[in-house]
Amino acid sequence: MVVSPASMDANATVDTLRTQSGLSLSESWWKFLCRIQVPAKVKLFHNGIPTNSNLAKRGVLVDSLCLICRRRSESTMHSYWCCPALKVIRAGCPFMRGIKVNDNFDFIDFMLLCRDKLAKADLELLCLLLWRLWHRRNCSVHGSTSLPYTDIIPWSESFLSDFRNANSGGIPSAGVSKMAAPS
Ligand SMILES: [Zn+2]
Repeated sequence: MVVSPASMDANATVDTLRTQSGLSLSESWWKFLCRIQVPAKVKLFHNGIPTNSNLAKRGVLVDSLCLICRRRSESTMHSYWCCPALKVIRAGCPFMRGIKVNDNFDFIDFMLLCRDKLAKADLELLCLLLWRLWHRRNCSVHGSTSLPYTDIIPWSESFLSDFRNANSGGIPSAGVSKMAAPS
């Protein structure tokens, strides 16, 4: 069964995909992590990252507001993808245009949806982008240098290209090795 782009934003779609795969959510997630070829530390994203919303749920913070846009609660999906401040990133990812999600969408479901709808290269670039965006968010929130949004996609593409070259015996491009990897 082919799921049309128009229905990609429905939770029912995710449930359908799970049922089709015959795997539990946990099994699907681990299979996904094994499939993507990105640095191991990039694979550490998950629903429980310390966004303000998650910290508020744990009683660590009272205010769950996103400190970047100061408009909405900083859920995992908001922080990674839906924050209004990330508009330029979303606009720069044409491969994501058919995937509609909101702040309340489950992050793991989002990634599994992307796994099923994106080409492998695009999926890996998305992983790099999310990783870099979380690093940028932390730099901004904690008061260190704020990375320009316009640099996020080119940096992620270069980093991923070098990673692929390194794993295929190629020669890394100049410059990228000097960049600090996100924490
Ligand atoms: Zn925000």
